[in-house]
Amino acid sequence: MDPAKRASVGARSDVRDDVRSETQLEEQVKDWLRYGEDLGLAPYYRDRRPLHAIAKSTALPNDAHSIATSNAISAAAPAAMAAAAPGRAPASPITVSASASQKSPTATILPASAPSLFESIERIAGDSLPRIREDIGDCTRCKLHKGRTKIVFGTGNPNAELMFVGEGPGRDEDLSGEPFVGRAGKLLTDMIKAMGLQREDVYIANVVKCRPPENRLPEKDEIATCSPFLMRQIDAIKPKVICTLGSCSAQTLLQTAQGISKLRGEWFDFRGTKLMPTYHPAYLLRNPAAKPEVWKDLQKVMAVLGLQPKKR
Ligand code: URA
Repeated sequence: MDPAKRASVGARSDVRDDVRSETQLEEQVKDWLRYGEDLGLAPYYRDRRPLHAIAKSTALPNDAHSIATSNAISAAAPAAMAAAAPGRAPASPITVSASASQKSPTATILPASAPSLFESIERIAGDSLPRIREDIGDCTRCKLHKGRTKIVFGTGNPNAELMFVGEGPGRDEDLSGEPFVGRAGKLLTDMIKAMGLQREDVYIANVVKCRPPENRLPEKDEIATCSPFLMRQIDAIKPKVICTLGSCSAQTLLQTAQGISKLRGEWFDFRGTKLMPTYHPAYLLRNPAAKPEVWKDLQKVMAVLGLQPKKR
């Protein structure tokens, strides 16, 4: 083929590639917006202003709780973000270097399927776990408070390099106020030990802090109301790695509707922190055959944290 013709064919295929990647990008953005709509957070997407600005302009009534418990979740979502940080000053802008995580030779980081909703939530200057707990108070922001015995805030090392995020408390956790203390929790403790760590070395939290009735999945309004506290916990702890357990926590943090079997075992970036989704220990109790897959995921985490497996 003559060189001019070859160049023109090449250019046409470049154009086709560009069109294809634009279409893919458009699809991704649509997915992301649909997911935001589902969570009732669309107004927040449309108005990605800083948390404190949203707090002012949404003219919260004195009782922020009444807003977060209303049915008009889409209107309440920005208020829920603000209600998670009443009166807390946002930190001065910081640049999170994604490159720190990308430098690792052992990890290929995938972008989340779409930009994270939580990316634009401002970090709060001097935030700490005790302050976050104090802001949660004796929470009645969502309907889960009606059936709870204890709020399950989270436990572990406030400076942990590794943070596990589950879905929500079960019966044992509701009674004790500690995350992951039932059968699934015992398995999680064994997994942590197999990684050469103790439970006290890591931090463990959930997407929602109160037990969903009958251990059902947390609902979108409950997630929208409670997850800003999880974001604050992550920001306060600044772990090197977040390991999400099961689909609820991975989908919430990564703002995706992708199933856990597609997500697990891959690195994602969550606001500059590496995030590894894996199966929930409760799933492993029902499907022990999936344990080797989880062990592979945990080994990837161990490689990044420089951990050696526990000697048997
Ligand atoms: N399952 C979870 O997701 N979290 C807990 O705390 C307990 C069980």
